[in-house]
Amino acid sequence: MTQRYDAIICGGGPAGSAAALALARRGHAVAVLDRARFPRPKLCGGLLTWKTVRLLETALGETVDCLARAGAVIHRSDRYVIRTFDKPLAEGALPFPFHFVDRAAFDNHLLRKAEAEGASVIQGVEAASVDTEKGVVMAVDGRTWAGDWIIGADGANSVVRKAFAGVDRERMRRLMAPALEIALPAAEFRPVACPELYVGFLDAGYGWVFPHGEAVVAGICGLRREKINFSAMFKEYLEFLGVDPAAVRPFRGHPLPYGNYLEEPVEGRALLAGDAAGLVEPLFGEGIFFSLCSGWYAGEAVAHGLARRGDPGPVYLRRLHRQILPELRASDRLRWLIFRAMRHTGPGSLGFFVNAAARPLAEMVHGMRSYAWLRRKRWDFLEG
Ligand SMILES: Cc1cc2nc3c(=O)[nH]c(=O)nc-3n(C[C@H](O)[C@H](O)[C@H](O)COP(=O)(O)OP(=O)(O)OC[C@H]3O[C@@H](n4cnc5c(N)ncnc54)[C@H](O)[C@@H]3O)c2cc1C
Repeated sequence: MTQRYDAIICGGGPAGSAAALALARRGHAVAVLDRARFPRPKLCGGLLTWKTVRLLETALGETVDCLARAGAVIHRSDRYVIRTFDKPLAEGALPFPFHFVDRAAFDNHLLRKAEAEGASVIQGVEAASVDTEKGVVMAVDGRTWAGDWIIGADGANSVVRKAFAGVDRERMRRLMAPALEIALPAAEFRPVACPELYVGFLDAGYGWVFPHGEAVVAGICGLRREKINFSAMFKEYLEFLGVDPAAVRPFRGHPLPYGNYLEEPVEGRALLAGDAAGLVEPLFGEGIFFSLCSGWYAGEAVAHGLARRGDPGPVYLRRLHRQILPELRASDRLRWLIFRAMRHTGPGSLGFFVNAAARPLAEMVHGMRSYAWLRRKRWDFLEG
């Protein structure tokens, strides 16, 4: 028997929870389907920028203190380091600290919040296919759910996206970066007080070492532009960090949308948000903010459509095109500028660039300034 809701959300990560909160708060019947049972692990560095904290506070009603009490925020740092394997390129202070979250706790907290505000959370349900015209989700076990609208928030390998006829699948695949990461016990590693970025060893990508409470996470991500064996490269990276790769195997990896954002993630009765729509910032790979923000926009657009018996698609697209896509396009241009400059003149060019404009660039990463010409950025969720 098909269960009916106003909206069905596939995926209970940050995009799905933000969409569910927007809809449940307006009294709509919304179901979140997720194949996992929460809290579930999620491979991620967990770095939150200023704009993420502000979105959590203003739109989602969630504070850093509350997230820290829930065990979700586990570290904060107001400094950064950028270096090659051989030498430091730049380091400095930040205008606002980076916060680091444990994704299992963070995602669980947001999903429980959506549930407490009225969303039905249905776990252990894996969507197998979606009919975007009828608004029906079919699970692998044969059960079906129907909604006036469907929000695909099911991550980088989205099943909802597979039902979209208009997606350029070759581009989606080409710009999907392999990301490998491990968590090491902090006590067994050297002290790491602030995020460290490593450049110059990947043609279009980078490595990171992040403080993570009792752990340190180390990872790499990049585009498959040459015949790179990412697993072998990650081994070398760990060896450089003084970690025996054999002692920490098997490595875990997850695809990261890295420049394959969709310009029109709407088809029939379905809207895509977060990684499902490729909405990740293409230079640093920041995805948590863009999943929360696009999920929130998608939820608000569907609520608007339900209230007026109208189509939420244009409302959602207008907001994406005003707020999010200009940032992703500008960041995409900047990353090719940086990667090409590093290829031709060496990583020192990045150090020169960052040191020349340290403060405005840090404000750009945090979202106080735009990736487009470092103009002051006005986020609509901060405007009363
Ligand atoms: C190694 C790595 C490090 C990263 N580090 C950072 C970082 O430091 N900061 C940052 O901002 N971003 C980072 N990102 C990106 C960030 O993790 C993602 O952009 C973000 O998780 C996207 O959120 P989402 O809700 O769209 O998808 P997800 O968080 O992937 O959630 C999708 C949900 O959908 C569920 N699902 C999937 N398929 C189905 C299905 N068929 N049926 C039902 N449910 C399904 C999954 O179980 C999951 O719960 C990193 C990514 C990687 C891979």
